[in-house]
Amino acid sequence: MSTDHWDVVVVGGRIAGASTAWALAPYAERILVVDASRATAFWPQQSTWDRTGNLAWAELDLLDTVLACGAPRTYGDTQRIGDEVVERVYPLEDGYSYRMSVAREVLDPALLAAAQSRGNVTVWRPAQVRDVTTDAGRVRGVTVRHAGVDREVTCDLLVLADGRLSRNVQRVGATAYQVIESPWFALLAYYENLPLPTDRSYFSLQDRSVLICTPCGDKQWCIALDLHQSLIDATGRHPARSYDRMVRDDPHLGPAVAAGRRTTTVGGAGRMRMLRRPMSGPGWCLVGDAGYHLDPVTAQGTRAALVTARILRDRIAAAGRIAGADLTGLTAERDAALAEDWAYTAQIVAPG
Ligand SMILES: Cc1cc2nc3c(=O)[nH]c(=O)nc-3n(C[C@H](O)[C@H](O)[C@H](O)COP(=O)(O)OP(=O)(O)OC[C@H]3O[C@@H](n4cnc5c(N)ncnc54)[C@H](O)[C@@H]3O)c2cc1C
Repeated sequence: MSTDHWDVVVVGGRIAGASTAWALAPYAERILVVDASRATAFWPQQSTWDRTGNLAWAELDLLDTVLACGAPRTYGDTQRIGDEVVERVYPLEDGYSYRMSVAREVLDPALLAAAQSRGNVTVWRPAQVRDVTTDAGRVRGVTVRHAGVDREVTCDLLVLADGRLSRNVQRVGATAYQVIESPWFALLAYYENLPLPTDRSYFSLQDRSVLICTPCGDKQWCIALDLHQSLIDATGRHPARSYDRMVRDDPHLGPAVAAGRRTTTVGGAGRMRMLRRPMSGPGWCLVGDAGYHLDPVTAQGTRAALVTARILRDRIAAAGRIAGADLTGLTAERDAALAEDWAYTAQIVAPG
């Protein structure tokens, strides 16, 4: 075992982790990002956001990085509610008034590359944090398995950005203080060459399902489906088969996908839990889904991840340093900043 010291170790190198490494780099000498997945792996978690998401990217000074990913901006959508079709144009409030979607296989590496361009951010990937070291109630470091070897690293701050299924949250003692079981199953796949407009999205809101098609790159679209568990139970069909059938039978999308091509498998997740955990403790902080998971049905997860990264960045910036920065009170700050997102999503996930 070799020992290494870093100002910050960030576990997870996707939206929350890469953005946090980018944002904290000016205040640190050395930051280590550890991510267990392979950069090229299909990551079936969509990333669509609206004007509020654009503002969150801009607050972190990452909007140009995101725009350089090449996804078109959408300024309106076609909504099918039951059989009624409505064309909508998004209100023009300012230069951020558009919606966009970037495939995670494009977005996440771009964010990590931005973080690495700071010059003091090192990435170990694929590498897995397998344990957390504490001393006198304070997190001091982690054990990382990298290239087949376990390495002990120490740090002044451990940032867990390892997603909604994080195992490390238990290791630092971050127990959820609010959990809402979700009845929604979220699925998606990517397509190319669909004969659809590139400046608008499509929503079909039907009984217990929402189908969403968003342009996400040059001749690329993401088609996502939120399916209520009661509908899955009623049909007895595997969600991926329902996905195929619902896309094919949709009057707007059916002819389009017949003309184009699906480029990925259908992926996604079900039986998810919205949850809130404390954002910080002695020597640790949670950003993104690890500490605050919103069900994808309202597409606010990206914004929430960015808001948590920004809150941490602002606290560190105020302290001017990583070691010894006071991280108390972040939970209340985060919950206040995201109160509307939580209430809106919770009301859809568990109405009444
Ligand atoms: C099907 C689906 C659709 C969605 N659609 C939308 C949408 O349209 N809009 C939106 O805003 N949000 C959406 N979301 C939510 C959004 O994807 C998440 O909020 C966002 O991915 C959170 O990013 P994150 O960086 O916190 O975590 P993640 O993206 O989950 O990344 C966590 C990373 O940590 C790594 N990791 C885990 N454990 C370890 C370990 N021990 N050691 C090292 N690395 C580790 C993982 O490999 C992974 O790379 C969707 C989610 C799903 C599941």
